Order: sequence, then C-alpha cells, then structure tokens
Amino acid sequence: MSLHFLIVGSGFSGAVLANQLTQALDCKVDIWDERPHAGGNCHTERDEQTGIMVHQYGPHIFNTDKKEIWDYVNSFGEFKHYVHRVKALSKGAIYSLPVSLFTINQFFGKTFTPAEAKEFLQGLADKTIIDPQNFEEQALHFIGRELYDAFFYGYTKKQWGCEPTELPASIIKRIPVRFNYDDNYHTNEYTGIPVDGYSAIMQKMIDHPSISLTLNKKFTAGMDTSQYTHVFYTGPLDAYFEFEYGRLGYRTVTFEKFYAEGDHQGLSQMNYCDEEVPYTRVVEHKHFTPWEKHQKTVYFKEFSKETGPADEPYYPKRLQHDKGILKQYRAKAESLSGVSFLGRLATYRYMDMHHVIGEALSFAENFVKALKTGQPIPVFSNTEEL
Ligand code: UDP
Repeated sequence: MSLHFLIVGSGFSGAVLANQLTQALDCKVDIWDERPHAGGNCHTERDEQTGIMVHQYGPHIFNTDKKEIWDYVNSFGEFKHYVHRVKALSKGAIYSLPVSLFTINQFFGKTFTPAEAKEFLQGLADKTIIDPQNFEEQALHFIGRELYDAFFYGYTKKQWGCEPTELPASIIKRIPVRFNYDDNYHTNEYTGIPVDGYSAIMQKMIDHPSISLTLNKKFTAGMDTSQYTHVFYTGPLDAYFEFEYGRLGYRTVTFEKFYAEGDHQGLSQMNYCDEEVPYTRVVEHKHFTPWEKHQKTVYFKEFSKETGPADEPYYPKRLQHDKGILKQYRAKAESLSGVSFLGRLATYRYMDMHHVIGEALSFAENFVKALKTGQPIPVFSNTEEL
C-alpha cells in the first residue's frame, strides 16, 4: 500500500515532520492548516508600510544548545547572529533584564562585585522555602521579595491572569539570574534570527513534490480520513476531542500596532512590569534585524488575556485543574489508533522553537522506525509528567 499521511497544522512541528517523512519514506504528505497562512505562531511577514519583518504572533528568537538542531534549521536558510537584550520598566525606572549584576547594582544603588552581589542576594532570598512548589516560591527562593515584586509579580499576574502561586515553578526557571554584566536574555550557545523570516524557513522545509499544503482547511475529528495511512495532529488537544472534558487553559495575546519615524524605544523588547500598565511588553521588530535599514518603525503593545473560543491559544497555563483535564484527554488519545499528537498545542506544553523542532525530529525517527519494524506507533511525541 502506498503511504499517504495527513498532518494537521503547518507550524514547526508539522513542517519538520513533513520534511522528515518525505526524506525517509516514499510517501505523500498532505498538510492542512485552518489559517490563511502557514507557519503557525512562528509566522513572519514583512509589514506593508515599512518593509520590516514582523513576527506576527510576537517575538521569536531562535536559541539552542544543540548543534544538530542549529545546523538543521540553518540548512533551510540563512540565520544572522542576534543576541536578545531586554530592558524592563519598573516603578518609573529602566533596568536590565534578566536580573544580573547590573540590575542588582542599579536597583539597590550599589557597586557590588560579583561575589558581594551573590552574598547580598543570598541574604535576600527566602530561606524558609526549601523546595519551591510554585512560581512565587521559586522566585522568592532565588532573588527575594524586592526584586520579585519589582520585576516578576505584576508582569506575571498580567501575563497569566492568576496569582503566581498558582503557576508552575518551571516558568521562572526560563530566565537566568547572573552575577556578571552579561545581559543576553538567553543562555543558549547558538542564537540567531532568520534573514528572510521563519515562514521562509518552514516553506523550504515543506518544499517537496510529494508535500501538498492546503490553507483555510479546518480539521475536525469526525472527518473521514480513511484514505490516510496515519494522521498527525498538531492542533490543540482539547479541540481534537471537541472539548469533551472541558477546555484546557491557555493565555492568548492581542496586539496594538503603532508606527513612528526612526527608532521608537532603542531596542526590540521593553517589558512593563508594573501591574497598573495594561500591557506586558512593547516589541519593536526592526531591532531584530539590525543589518537592515528602515527609516520608519513599527511596534506592538502586547496584551494578555484568557483564550476564548474565537482566540488563538498561545501559552498553556497548566494549572492543577488543567492537568486533571489533560490526563483525561491523553488517556482517550492513547486509546485511539491511526492518529498521533505532537507539538506545543497537542502536548499542551510551554515549548520554545528549538524544543518543538527537536521533538518533531525524534518523533519522526521513532515513527519511521515503528512503521518499518511493525512496532506500535507512538501516540504522543512526549511522555507526560503530570
Ligand atoms: N516574567 C516576568 N517579568 C518579566 C519577564 C518575564 O515576570 O519582565 C515572567 C513571566 O511570568 C513570563 C515568564 O517570566 O511568562 C517567562 O518569560 P519569557 O520572557 O521567557 O516569556 P515569553 O517570551 O515566552 O513570553
């Protein structure tokens, strides 16, 4: 029987999988995406007025420690070196983020050396918290109350719409604390921005005579997919099951767009940490491509809110309640055959691009191996730790 696969969703998961399946097997791949463009939330497009490359769903900076993933993405287009530097506005002053020696000295009006700052912060850290169980405890354990209140409490409440005590500790572990003047927002070895945007990279991944992409095509679980050997679903897990056990909590982002002459804020990302400011950050995209010259600028204020039925899901909340529902959906998915689930939305995890790509690569390898050896096909791209 000839192999014919359906991939639902054309973000990085879908694009990498299609690319890998056509490399490894003699097969046909159909990709459906319900949006009018490919690329999922990594979609990029040049702004009509200014010509600036805009990350349509918020800033995406490619970072990884894995050379093989870096080499893989670079094989689909040129990336230029880009170091993400973020500033934060808190109570009327601008600071360097992540929390570094510079932030500590600025914030406390000190001239500490690295060793002095470390000792000072140890004095501020909440020692009563031995094993941090949530975002707030983790933050207090790391940096103490003052820095937490200034940079994390308000921003996090706006971003996630709940008390930071309800959120997993893992979220704050995304951001380092440094005792030097390194202001790189990320810690990974390889970092860059694709010269022609992420959409061009994904387009190249699926540029194959056996891959066909259909846009504006919505998938519903009741559809007849019997002509396909296997279906790979990268959309929201709860939507696949028509929300039978309820909705998984997601935050979504809305954007307010502004134009200006020259340079609006002097860097790509300014965070607004005070709870009273309604937006979380302002992102000015021309600074992601400093090698390009643009007279005008375009920038976006980002507002976070709960995801309603008509909104795009962005950030999985993974509160206790969500984890209970997730467990039910996963159990139901495991009982099906002919369909696998992968990617940020289908596994309901806060994943960066390099996580998504790495997982899609290994999932494709496992799938091909299982198919060739007659072993059971993996249902999920991850093993869930609830
Ligand atoms: N965060 C914060 N203040 C900041 C930046 C981040 O409290 O100025 C918290 C917030 O909860 C956020 C999390 O740290 O969701 C992770 O931040 P990151 O910048 O990695 O978020 P992303 O770019 O994925 O939205």
